[in-house]
Amino acid sequence: SLETLELDPEDLELVLEVGSGQFGLVWQGEWRDLKVAVKMVREGAMSEEEFKEEAQVMKKLSHPKLVQLLGVCLHRSPSFLVFEFMEGGCLNNYLRCHRGALSQDTLLGMCLDVSEGMAYLESSNFIHRDLAARNCLVSEDLSVKVSDFGMTRFVLDDQYTSSQGTKFPMKWSAPEVIKYCRFSSKSDVWAFGILMWEVYTEGRLPYENRTNTEVLEDLNAGMRLLKPRLAPQSLYELMQWCWKEKPGDRPSFTVLLHELASVLEL
Ligand code: ADP
Repeated sequence: SLETLELDPEDLELVLEVGSGQFGLVWQGEWRDLKVAVKMVREGAMSEEEFKEEAQVMKKLSHPKLVQLLGVCLHRSPSFLVFEFMEGGCLNNYLRCHRGALSQDTLLGMCLDVSEGMAYLESSNFIHRDLAARNCLVSEDLSVKVSDFGMTRFVLDDQYTSSQGTKFPMKWSAPEVIKYCRFSSKSDVWAFGILMWEVYTEGRLPYENRTNTEVLEDLNAGMRLLKPRLAPQSLYELMQWCWKEKPGDRPSFTVLLHELASVLEL
């Protein structure tokens, strides 16, 4: 099972519908006594031929702070993707449902978990492209793992993938992504700064009442999100470092990981 990507559908049992996403419905399921999440792929939602090649690479990415891809079933319709199951659901909902009940150590621990997963992706030269609290999941033991890495490349919806589209994640996108589609680990770092802001506001929407166009104007004018009330100054300084205009002026995830770990030790 470690080598084979293509799973036998006979081994898979669907138990309960748990959500829906860009590609279609997500089910809780069982695969060889293991609790799994099954993403069903709606017809026409995914560029499956391209994904097939990349799935091999993605399956080999393995880290305690990444949601593991266990396998796929791409030779029948609908296709599906099988991941480890995450009991706590997505991070932004988790934050919203536990407002007022999350300690400073918990908030910092969430940022640290994500930075660990991202430092691993960075060292694997793998760009996430859509890092946000909605694309992180919470496990049974309350650790946070990074999900959906690299998947936007296979989304067949212009509204989502074009920076002019209505579903484009402008509020998480670095300036060079918005202007030139120039993705890198440093544009992931920008998004990580926004994610830290989401954590410390307990799941608020960034630039809440502003349209994508207004956000772009504000960014160009040098404006940035304000310090969340719950964020210590040192954490806000890390966010601001992530939001430097020039990609080269931003820290790497390796550096962020060490900075966050040293705040935790204080
Ligand atoms: P997509 O990537 O297709 O947009 P999402 O990853 O947003 O789909 O998944 C939609 C919903 O399904 C999530 O908000 C979450 O509630 C649930 N979900 C996704 N992956 C898992 C998982 N591995 N374990 C548990 N629930 C999951």
